[in-house]
Amino acid sequence: MPIYEYGCPKCRKIFSFLVRGPRKKKFRCPRCGSAGLKRIYSSFALTRSEESRLENLADPANFSGLDENDPRALARLMRKMARETGEELDAEMREVVERLESGEDPEKLEEMMGGAGPGYTRDPSGTLYE
Ligand SMILES: [Zn+2]
Repeated sequence: MPIYEYGCPKCRKIFSFLVRGPRKKKFRCPRCGSAGLKRIYSSFALTRSEESRLENLADPANFSGLDENDPRALARLMRKMARETGEELDAEMREVVERLESGEDPEKLEEMMGGAGPGYTRDPSGTLYE
């Protein structure tokens, strides 16, 4: 079952949501009720492949021989993972993949998409169920 992470820009907390059923569901912040939660893509950070979530997403064989500094190889892998998990790349991820394909520095892009930015803390209440 996929767990998505969302950061609330108002109270600067990160929440994990266990998502069942249809995707693309909009979540409200459990703390302040803000509807402006921002999806966090840390689970796509390939350098953190030791994370169990990522291992669930992709066969580790996908990573063998992967050059993490080759943006086009990363883009191919991300497209492959999206196909295999049946999870559509949303607009933000598509932009990242397209920029990788045009040869942009993966580290820079990871900064852009990885995490919600400075000032966020993980909410200790852990995973929330929809
Ligand atoms: Zn909030």
